[in-house]
Amino acid sequence: MVEARGVHKVFGHGAGALHVLRGVDLVVPQGSVTVVLGPSGSGKSTLLRCLNELEEITAGSVHVDGELLGYRHDAKGVLHRLHPRRIAAQRSRIGMVFQRFHLFGHMTALENVAEAPVQVRGLSKAAARRRAAELLERVGLADRADHYPAQLSGGQQQRVAIARALAMDPELMLFDEPTSALDPELVGEVLTVMQDLARSGMTMVVVTHEIGFAREVADHVVFMDDGVVVEQGPPGAVLENPSEPRLQEFLSHVL
Ligand code: ATP
Ligand code: MG
Repeated sequence: MVEARGVHKVFGHGAGALHVLRGVDLVVPQGSVTVVLGPSGSGKSTLLRCLNELEEITAGSVHVDGELLGYRHDAKGVLHRLHPRRIAAQRSRIGMVFQRFHLFGHMTALENVAEAPVQVRGLSKAAARRRAAELLERVGLADRADHYPAQLSGGQQQRVAIARALAMDPELMLFDEPTSALDPELVGEVLTVMQDLARSGMTMVVVTHEIGFAREVADHVVFMDDGVVVEQGPPGAVLENPSEPRLQEFLSHVL
């Protein structure tokens, strides 16, 4: 469960300040999938980065499974920033998959997936490798475990990236345009893995222009423009029957 309330993000200060998120509210119930749509520069990636504490929000709050991200209240109710180690621990429970896969080039697929559980969680190497093998099987790459990223297609690399995020047993998975860097024929295999993940009950927030995925997999669709949520609701309503002119215009370009 994710609960973002009144989230603002301002980059920079004074005359050069850029107010990118301007009061975003977002509720993602446990086990549900939210797809975020919006034109370039509307703040989609910034919102995901705030949900993952890669950015510190300027105002508002984000709770994941009831836990406030980044801050604690003292006895008087005053907010204090958490220690970076605490923030890192919170972040390690939130998986993120990017447009570019960011795999470690000098490690095999299996080593990429096994790395963080050993380094961050202190899992034994043997246990991490067993788990990594299971996860690679789950994303359809059991036979590619010993390949290096350069020996894998873009779609395969992205599936390794998904397995790597799952290896940390995340409570929440964030996807930022996971298929937009892929050749068209490789998009489907990644979307299929994401659909399986959704079916397994993972809580997911997905920024994508894949309207078919939104229609079939999303429980909730959010349309952002200019740092605010302009329209949201079930995919049927938002995609087939948009009320906002800006959303109608956006859909006429991506459909
Ligand atoms: P796209 O569809 O192109 O990925 P987006 O909706 O993900 O766009 P963001 O990447 O969130 O948009 O960017 C929103 C705005 O915030 C843009 O104007 C961008 O230039 C600005 N921005 C993002 N990150 C930073 C940063 N670290 N410093 C300053 N400005 C930033
Ligand atoms: Mg983006």
